[in-house]
Amino acid sequence: MMVPGKVLISEKEIKKKVRELAKKVSLYYKGEDVIMIGVLKGAFVFLSDLMRAVKFPVKVDFMAVKSYKGTETTGEVNILLDLREDIEGKNVLIVEDIVDTGITLNAVKRILEKRKPKSLRICALLDKKERRVVDVRGDYIGFAIPNKFVVGYGLDFEEKYRNLPYVSLLKDE
Ligand code: 5GP
Repeated sequence: MMVPGKVLISEKEIKKKVRELAKKVSLYYKGEDVIMIGVLKGAFVFLSDLMRAVKFPVKVDFMAVKSYKGTETTGEVNILLDLREDIEGKNVLIVEDIVDTGITLNAVKRILEKRKPKSLRICALLDKKERRVVDVRGDYIGFAIPNKFVVGYGLDFEEKYRNLPYVSLLKDE
């Protein structure tokens, strides 16, 4: 049975990083209207911390796409839930938990670009650079991590462990 093992990024490290990212985001948008778009389910924990750490009012919306089964990337992306907000002419910040192959983020980016936002930027907490198959770059990246499956802080294994306040590796028990 796979259970959380070694802590890769502690709660304290995450808190510090969220503050740093929020500072950069706040400086960049300087009080302009921004819609933060969380990619469900993984991003909701990070988004909720990030939005409370930025220094200006933001709108929030969510999208859900599916591209992952168990620990394998399938390459397909289906929209399970679309935005309610019209993003045309708006500043959009996509908030992601992790960029792995880049397939999900790239697909989301393309879908949103077609809706003609004023600007479109990407903020991801974790980045597994080694696994990238699609060239997609985040404007704000929290941590570069090794090519290992991680759980916690929104990230699941078979829908569990999203509630861990830290990011952890899995171990077989
Ligand atoms: P990509 O399309 O970049 O390959 O995958 C992105 C999505 O895969 C993430 O939003 C996340 O849901 C899932 N994912 C990628 N790596 C991990 C991981 O190490 N742990 C978990 N729990 N999910 C992952």
